[in-house]
Amino acid sequence: MRSICVMNQKGGVGKTTTSVNLAAGLAKQGRSVCLIDLDPQGHASLHLGVDAFGQTPTVYDVFSGKKTLAEVKQLAVDNLWVIPSDLDLAATEIELVDAPGRELILRGAIERLVQTQPVDYIIMDCPPSLGVLTINALTAAREVFIPLQPHFLALQGLSKLFETTALVKRRLNRELIVSGIILCLYETSTRLAADITDDLMRFLEQSDPQAPWYKARIFDSRIRRNIKLAEAPSFGQSIFDYAGKSSGAIDYGALVTEIIAAEAGTVAQPAAA
Ligand code: ADP
Ligand code: MG
Repeated sequence: MRSICVMNQKGGVGKTTTSVNLAAGLAKQGRSVCLIDLDPQGHASLHLGVDAFGQTPTVYDVFSGKKTLAEVKQLAVDNLWVIPSDLDLAATEIELVDAPGRELILRGAIERLVQTQPVDYIIMDCPPSLGVLTINALTAAREVFIPLQPHFLALQGLSKLFETTALVKRRLNRELIVSGIILCLYETSTRLAADITDDLMRFLEQSDPQAPWYKARIFDSRIRRNIKLAEAPSFGQSIFDYAGKSSGAIDYGALVTEIIAAEAGTVAQPAAA
C-alpha cells in the first residue's frame, strides 16, 4: 500500500484537483483507492459527488473518536472510497489542542482500516495550513506529493513546507519522504514556468541527503490550465468522467501512468503535449 499526503500550505495551487483526479485515475486503472478529505471546506468530497449533509458521518467523527474510517467511508465510483469532510472539521484544530497523541489519530485510524479493508492507495487531501490536520496527514503518510503552481512566488513558502516535513520526520514519522512535485496550472507558453522548474531542480539536487525531499522528483507530466478541470467539481465528477478527452484528462491520465510506471520500474511514456 502507498499512503500519500497531498500538501501545500498555499491555497489554490491544485491540491484538491490533484487528489481527486489522481485518486479517480488510479481507480480507473483497477487500483483500490481511499481518498481522505482533510479540508473542512469539503471540496474533495463534493468533487466526487459526496455531500456530507445532515447526519452523514465524516472524518470529524473519526478525529473526535466517535467513528472508525470503515464506518465513515463512502463508495464514490468503482474502486474509489471517499472519507468525506465538512465544516465541523474546522473545530478539530481547537478541540485537539491539549489532547495527548493528537498527531497520531489519523495514523491509528488508517492502520485499523487497512487491517480489515486493505487498499492499494490512501490519498490525503490537506487543508491550506500547517495545523494539526496536516500534521496528522504527514504522520500517517509514507509519502508527500506537493502540487506547485510555477509562478513567481512559487518557491517562497516551499522552505517552510519542507521544514515541516523534516520536523515530522524527526519527531513522528521516520519513514516520511517527499517523493513528488506536481506542476499544476502550468503555462506552457511562458519562460517563467520553465525557469522556476529549473531553479527547483537545482535546489533539490543540492539538498542534504538526509532531508526528506532529497529524492523528490518533479513529475514529467505537467498539468496545464484547463477550464474543464475547474468545471468538473460542480458536476460531482472526476475529469475522466466529466470530460474524458480534455487536456485536463490527458494530463492527469499521464500523471497516473507515470506513477504506475515508476512503481513497475519501467520508463513512463512522456506526457502528451
Ligand atoms: P487547492 O486545493 O490547493 O486550494 P484547488 O485544486 O481547489 O486548489 O484549485 C483551485 C482552483 O483552481 C479550483 O477552482 C480548481 O477548479 C482550479 N484549478 C485547479 N487546477 C486547475 C487547472 N489545471 N486548470 C484550471 N483550473 C484549475
Ligand atoms: Mg483544496
